[in-house]
Amino acid sequence: MAEADVIAALATASGRSAVGIIRLSGPDLIPFMIGLLGRQIPPRHAVLTDFLDAGREAVDSGLALFFPRPHSYTGEDVLELQAHGGPAVLQLLLRRCVNLGARLAQPGEFTRRAFLNDKMDLAQAESVADLIEAGSEAAARAAVRSLKGELSSEVRALTSELVTLRTWVEASIDFPDEDVDPGDQEKWRESLETLRQDIERIKRTAASGNLLRDGIEVALVGRPNVGKSSLLNRLAGEELAIVTPIPGTTRDTVKGEFLFQGVTIRLTDTAGLRDARDAVERIGIERTWRAARASDVALLVIDATTGRTAEDEMIGRELSPGAKRISVFNKIDLSGVAPGRRRGEGGLEVQVSALTGAGIDFLRRAIFDEVAPEGLDLEGVFLARERHIDALSRAAGHLERGSEHLARLEVFAEDLRLAQRDLSEITGEVSADDLLGEIFSRFCIGK
Ligand code: GDP
Repeated sequence: MAEADVIAALATASGRSAVGIIRLSGPDLIPFMIGLLGRQIPPRHAVLTDFLDAGREAVDSGLALFFPRPHSYTGEDVLELQAHGGPAVLQLLLRRCVNLGARLAQPGEFTRRAFLNDKMDLAQAESVADLIEAGSEAAARAAVRSLKGELSSEVRALTSELVTLRTWVEASIDFPDEDVDPGDQEKWRESLETLRQDIERIKRTAASGNLLRDGIEVALVGRPNVGKSSLLNRLAGEELAIVTPIPGTTRDTVKGEFLFQGVTIRLTDTAGLRDARDAVERIGIERTWRAARASDVALLVIDATTGRTAEDEMIGRELSPGAKRISVFNKIDLSGVAPGRRRGEGGLEVQVSALTGAGIDFLRRAIFDEVAPEGLDLEGVFLARERHIDALSRAAGHLERGSEHLARLEVFAEDLRLAQRDLSEITGEVSADDLLGEIFSRFCIGK
C-alpha cells in the first residue's frame, strides 16, 4: 500500500443539495467505521445508519457504503457516507472524520492513490479529470474511452511492437558472434516505419479528442458597425451582445458559444478596432487584440456593401501572420451577393448576412474546418493531453533518428530505448527492467 494515512473529502459539489457524499480512503477504515457508525457494516451494501459525533450523538443519518481494499476506486479501503446535502451537516461530518485521524484530501488525491495502487494508469487517471470537465456529450464520451484505457492500450500495443524490435537489435549487439541476417536491417526499417505510422494515427485520434475537450476559440474582429455583434448573436443563436447602429457600442468583450459536431465553438466579440477616444474604449481595444491573438481562428468581419477597405487590410495585417483567419463579408442582404464560401487571395472568404441568417451555416462549417485536423473522425476518438501528444512526438523523433542509425547498432538501440521511455511516460510505467525480462524470456541464453 503506497500511502499510510486516511484522506477524507466532500465528493459532491459544495452548496445545498438533496444528498452530499463524503468519501474516505485509507489502508484500514474499520476504526473509522466504528467511530462514525458505531458498528462495522458489510462490504458493498448500502446501509441506512446514523452518523455519530464524538459523544455518539447522531449528526445526521443516511446511507453508508464500505468498499474493502483492494476492490475499491483507490485500491484502499473506501467508505462513503451519503448524508443530507447541507453545508453545515457536511462540515460537521468532515470535522468528525478529521478528529478520528483523517486529513482533508488534496485535489485529485483519490485518483492519485488509484494510480499508485495500480487501479489505473496515468493516462486513465488524467481522463477522470477530463470526464468531469467535459463540456459536451461527445467530449464526455471521448473521455470515457480514455478512462476505459483505449489510449493506454494503443500505447501499450506500440510499446510491445517497439520492445520486439529492441529485443532483436539488442541481441545483435549482445551476441556479435552470431550471424546477423543481412535482411535484418530491412526488417528493422519496415518495423520502424510501421511504428511511426501507428504513432501518427494515434496522434491524429488524440488531436481530434482534444478538439472535443478544448473546443475552438474564435475572435470576431473588424471595424465598428460591420456587424460583429449581430454575427455573434446569429452564430450563438442568442441575444448576447447589444446591437446598435452607433459605432463603438461594443466596448468590452462579449462571449457566446455554440456546438458544432460535438465541438464547443467559443466566440469573443470585441470592441470595434478604431482609434480610441477615451480610456474605456482603449481598454476594450487592447482586449480585442489579446482575444484575437489567443484565438484559434479570427473572423475578420468586413462590410460587404463597401468591400475590403484599407482599414480592413490594416486590421488583417495586425493579426499574427500565421494565425488562421476567415474573412467574413457581412450584410450580403444589402450587397445582393449570394451566400457562399470560397478561397480568395486573403484566405478563406465567407459571404453571410447576420440579419437574415443567410450563409451562417457555411460560416459555422468553415470555422470548424479551419481548426479540425484533416480526416477528423469524431467516432471512436479518445482524449489525450498535450503531455501525451508531446511524448508521442518525441518517440516518433527518436524512431526517425533511429532509421538513420541502422548501421550503428549501439546508437540505434539507444534511439529505440529513448522512444520506449517516451511512450512509457504516457501510461506512467517506468520500465527499466522490462526489457531485460523480455530479452531473457524470448531468448534461450543457455543454448
Ligand atoms: P459591430 O459594431 O461590428 O458589432 O456591428 P453591430 O452588430 O452592432 O451592427 C451594426 C449595425 O449593422 C446594426 O444596425 C445592425 O443591425 C446592422 N447589421 C449587422 N449585420 C447586418 C446584416 O447582415 N445586414 C444588414 N442589413 N444590417 C446588419
